[in-house]
Amino acid sequence: MNMLGKIVLVTGATRGIGKAIAKRLKDEGAELVVTGRDERLLDAWRDEGALAVAADVTDNRQVENLVETIMERHGRIDVVVNNAGVTQDGLLMRMSDDDWNKVIDTNLSGVFNICRATIRPMLKQREGRIVNISSVIGVIGNAGQTNYAASKAGVIGFSKALAKEVASRNILVNVVAPGYIDTEMTQALTEEQRQNILRMIPLGRTGQGEDVASVVHFLVSEQNRYITGQTIHCDGGLVI
Ligand code: NDP
Repeated sequence: MNMLGKIVLVTGATRGIGKAIAKRLKDEGAELVVTGRDERLLDAWRDEGALAVAADVTDNRQVENLVETIMERHGRIDVVVNNAGVTQDGLLMRMSDDDWNKVIDTNLSGVFNICRATIRPMLKQREGRIVNISSVIGVIGNAGQTNYAASKAGVIGFSKALAKEVASRNILVNVVAPGYIDTEMTQALTEEQRQNILRMIPLGRTGQGEDVASVVHFLVSEQNRYITGQTIHCDGGLVI
């Protein structure tokens, strides 16, 4: 229970990796605040005692309302996990403006929106932890994912700059780059694509949301006092 009483915000916690991260931090004693857009799935979190606020990370007004709600309820924010993300794959030649903008707006501008809105209370507290979820694709690229790779590489650069900017206030900013994790996002792949990916993973198996949650938990806990600005891969050895 080493997160006891910590006020933790996890974005995109209605499903997949975000849900696993939120569950882990709650099990460790955190006071959980979760977001997403699906009210039905947010209700399930309310039943668990979490503060669940519908907020689209691309919409600054909704993000500001979210942060106001947290500050009214708890008066502080200790940990932010930027996990909300989408894919909209396609070859560059055929990629529409909408496909590009949706992915950049959610995966990169969403991280900017949430960080800008939450950094002020953290600066005042002179303490805080931020973990941004990137992807191995942001490091090695992938055909058909120029928009996604750009957004996830952007998250890594953004996080390094922010880590330097806020280090003097004892705010640690890190990135977790998952490989192939079993969630709804990866269920869209064909069996052939899945087998091809498995061949590239030295551990020979896909990851689970809980595997990513363990890394995030370490980074935001008191166990981590001296790691900031880093990108930790959680990918079964996919990128070595
Ligand atoms: P899922 O599609 O299963 O879940 C995505 C989550 O993001 C949902 O909770 C969704 O909530 C939320 N979300 C999407 N758009 C928005 C938005 N505009 N505002 C608020 N919430 C939003 O994805 P995963 O769990 O697989 O992925 C989670 C993160 O991990 C993403 O950033 C993804 O890029 C990254 N990742 C995933 C990998 C994988 O193999 N699965 C590999 C590498 C990285 P709702 O629908 O309720 O809005």
